[in-house]
Amino acid sequence: MEYIAALQNMSIDQLTAVIEVLQRSSDSYFYIYDFSKDTYIVTGKMLQRFPFENTVTENASSFFKKLMYPSDFPKVDADLAKCASGEQDTHCLEYRWLDRKGKIVWIECRGTVITGNGGHRLLFGRVTELGKEAKADNITGLRREVRFQYDAEEILRDRPQSINYMMRIGIDNFKEINEKEGVEAGDNVLRELVDCILAIVDTKVDVYRLMADEFMIVDSIPGSGKAAGDIYNAIKNKVAETQREKEYNCFYTISAGVMQNEFEDKGAGDIMRLTEFALNEAKRKGKNQMAMFDRDAYDEFLKRLDIRKLMRRDINDNFKGFQVFYQPIVSTPDYKLIGAEALLRWGCEKYGNVSPAVFIPILEESGLIIPVGRYVMWQAANTCKKWREILPDFHINVNLSYVQIHKSDLMSDVDRCISEVGIPPESLVLELTESGYIETDSRIKDLFRDLKTKNVDVALDDFGTGYSNMRYLKEIEAKTVKIDRSFVVQALKNDHDYNIITHIIDMAHDLGSYVCMEGIEEEDELNKMMKTKPDMIQGYYFGKPSSKDQFEENFLQSKNML
Ligand code: C2E
Ligand code: MG
Ligand code: MG
Repeated sequence: MEYIAALQNMSIDQLTAVIEVLQRSSDSYFYIYDFSKDTYIVTGKMLQRFPFENTVTENASSFFKKLMYPSDFPKVDADLAKCASGEQDTHCLEYRWLDRKGKIVWIECRGTVITGNGGHRLLFGRVTELGKEAKADNITGLRREVRFQYDAEEILRDRPQSINYMMRIGIDNFKEINEKEGVEAGDNVLRELVDCILAIVDTKVDVYRLMADEFMIVDSIPGSGKAAGDIYNAIKNKVAETQREKEYNCFYTISAGVMQNEFEDKGAGDIMRLTEFALNEAKRKGKNQMAMFDRDAYDEFLKRLDIRKLMRRDINDNFKGFQVFYQPIVSTPDYKLIGAEALLRWGCEKYGNVSPAVFIPILEESGLIIPVGRYVMWQAANTCKKWREILPDFHINVNLSYVQIHKSDLMSDVDRCISEVGIPPESLVLELTESGYIETDSRIKDLFRDLKTKNVDVALDDFGTGYSNMRYLKEIEAKTVKIDRSFVVQALKNDHDYNIITHIIDMAHDLGSYVCMEGIEEEDELNKMMKTKPDMIQGYYFGKPSSKDQFEENFLQSKNML
């Protein structure tokens, strides 16, 4: 065959030129292996990706030992030996190479042996990275996530400074579309959105479909100068325009998370994680918007994950690091100690004492508030039992989280706690944060009814901070309403809020509830707020939250608080 003879007569330089030309039109890598000289010739592109020192490698068979994954080598070596000896004329195997960073890459290597006049045998072929071959997505026609990972690795490794932005786009209510309108409508939305994206971005910009309803846009065109925010807005407008044209046949909005810098020393996995964080931030802030990756917010997020891990460890170590503090509650107008609120504390070596405002939401999100809530209840009940020996009417307030109500059998915990510890039910007061759910949530109503039949009192906490509604004061028949410190502070500053508090207290009394005023710090504050006639006071003026021992020392020796 003439063309084979032509190749045989070429110099190494000429052969290299041939494979370099072929290389331009393919994602695979081309090579020539000259068995008699044991020389391996590769393209410049292959050189960037794999640990060849030069496009021409002498003593190739010993170099292969370094290039191939050790356990694959014998199989490949045997196959190549057959090609060299003439036993076979093709090489076609899947095996593993190591890239320049020593990472494993699955490849398929195919080659054909060409024999010249003098029996000179050459293997001429190509190497394809198997991961790169991931099929395009059938719905949108875009390349998939695996391909993004390969491409991103390459750009991040070879030219991170050329990246203008990487934008991860997600459809805000995609799950709902699939559920309500059907999977076909969902597929149409995906196609429609891709058309909008492709209509806006430059043809040289890469767009990939990630999982489900998310897309990644990578602009690494040198000097593109396009701002991510402009692109996002243009896509959004295009989506709105398409929806109008299609007469709002299926409505959806999109959010985006964007990285614009910090690409150095990152891999594709990092980009996936960081853009996911930014996209979640955009959704968390209300969806239908774009969020730039924010390093500080991300560090904060990581810190919360770390705190969660440390708290989980501590819970499993017999609640090490957790402690229940107690803050006195006094009656008016005699200022006698009548009870205390149990307040959870947590600290660790790494972060010191962490505020409940930080760790309580983490316990709630993770469900850990369930075991910790039980721990607080038992601790508080035991303490209450002990203190009732000194003050027979003493009661203890324990804060409850909605997570405990929804995700655990709270009523049976309460029953068990009261009987195991042996305290009268009326000495336990459960505090629940005032919120808009109370009215509609049947579980909460059931719980309140059960607590009432069992004689356990309920206090409505944080009154005045949110959805203050006198109607559900009536509905749940809370024994006590706790007016939040922030509201009290406002009332101390202006007459309007002072009058509102006065009226709220009157109304609460009319409905048969007691009022506990929180956050009184100074004597003049006490004097002013006493005119509004609260029934109980809890505040730094009478005592800060303190450990059980400290509380006993400070408050139980002298029962009169002043
Ligand atoms: P809360 O239930 O409204 O508790 C009252 C908070 O106000 C406590 O903050 C207390 O230290 C603070 N406080 C009381 N008097 C004053 C005052 O005069 N001045 C000022 N500046 N603050 C005062 P803390 O202990 O930081 O707790 C914050 C919140 O964390 C609590 O608010 C409660 O919602 C939650 N929490 C604490 N312990 C638990 C618990 O065991 N379970 C649950 N679910 N939540 C808890
Ligand atoms: Mg409370
Ligand atoms: Mg409160």
